[in-house]
Amino acid sequence: METPGTLKRTVAVVLLAVSGAVAAFAAIAPAPEAIPVPPAIAVVEALPIDAEALVPSPASYIRAEQFQRGDSAGAFLARLGIAEPHAARLAKLPILRNLRPGTHVSAVVGADGMPLSLSFLNGRDSLVEITPDGRASERRADFETRLAMKSSVIRSSLFAAADAADIPDSVAMQLADVFSGDIDFHRDLRKDDRFTVVYEVHSLLGRPVRAGRVLAAEFVNQGRAYRAVHYGSGYYAPDGKNMRKAFLRSPLEFSRVTSGFGMRRHPLAREWRAHTGIDYGAPVGTRVRAVGDGVVEFAGLKGGYGKVVILRHQGQTTTVYAHLSRFAGGLHRGSRVAQNDTVGFVGQTGWATGPHLHYEFRIAGQARNPFSIAMPAATPVPPQQLPAFLAHAEPLVARLDLLANISTLAQLE
Ligand SMILES: [Zn+2]
Repeated sequence: METPGTLKRTVAVVLLAVSGAVAAFAAIAPAPEAIPVPPAIAVVEALPIDAEALVPSPASYIRAEQFQRGDSAGAFLARLGIAEPHAARLAKLPILRNLRPGTHVSAVVGADGMPLSLSFLNGRDSLVEITPDGRASERRADFETRLAMKSSVIRSSLFAAADAADIPDSVAMQLADVFSGDIDFHRDLRKDDRFTVVYEVHSLLGRPVRAGRVLAAEFVNQGRAYRAVHYGSGYYAPDGKNMRKAFLRSPLEFSRVTSGFGMRRHPLAREWRAHTGIDYGAPVGTRVRAVGDGVVEFAGLKGGYGKVVILRHQGQTTTVYAHLSRFAGGLHRGSRVAQNDTVGFVGQTGWATGPHLHYEFRIAGQARNPFSIAMPAATPVPPQQLPAFLAHAEPLVARLDLLANISTLAQLE
């Protein structure tokens, strides 16, 4: 927030290593094809700078404030730097009397406290503008899209690592989704795993409003690096292989609730039979998803399994989801399900002492460890598109290289 005398100004500070989390912003227009690689990592920080030295007494300035619960319109307008009698006049406007707490309002205010315009986001994409005479108009907000590049190291969970680097949840979830064919985020994560992610940030009047798509990412899991680049409607490895696999690594979606280190084995030490599957401890009601496209072979009660869904996939593969609290609506024998469709919800029906999902992966009726089986991948980038894809991927991969090196450096310290 500006105060008379000092102006906080965004200044790029060059840092070589930040312990734990490395963050970088690059002010770049949306076109991901034309991303120049910055010569050094710029970490954006707000530093106080003597205003007089930079800005010779401005005629107007932009001020932004968040409307708080308990704020009156008048007090809020005063906080935006709007002087009387303008504040009292504008405070009568219904649109300003009905601001929702949490709304960020930007005001362009003259040096004398005269409002030149007020604006705020109303809903997702609609920008409301109010003129000094109190007329309100609404139009589609022109977001400015920049790219953020961030890295972090897993200490306790993916969400904790994302929080440490100020990475939004939506980006952490996309990250887990992009690598869901290679990594079981419930069981495979280890301390010191690390990741780098390049994603869009949509800003309005210089203020980041929300994160967009993940454009590129690297995940180093148990010493093995996986990389993905967004292209068309999917994600591909830098060589053009599709990141989507025939089977997801985990039947449970990654979320704040289910996140954490290697899901604890459920407390039942003596399983009800020779254990042929994987147990995921998770709260009752957690969504259980089909790991691959298939057809429901069985959905009902079956002895110790309790409520169980069995899916038949291509070839000789079947998957089993047991101890469910309930099935997905409309699911019955013969239903077709696509990868990631909900089949049911975690429970503790059958012989289970605590809520958990018992999951089996079978080939020709034999329980197998899904992690030891090479999973066929979905279609790669078509050969005729490969040159275009490689040209698109190159600058993104260069960024991953840059941050990967830096986070390695940070780790060595
Ligand atoms: Zn089990």
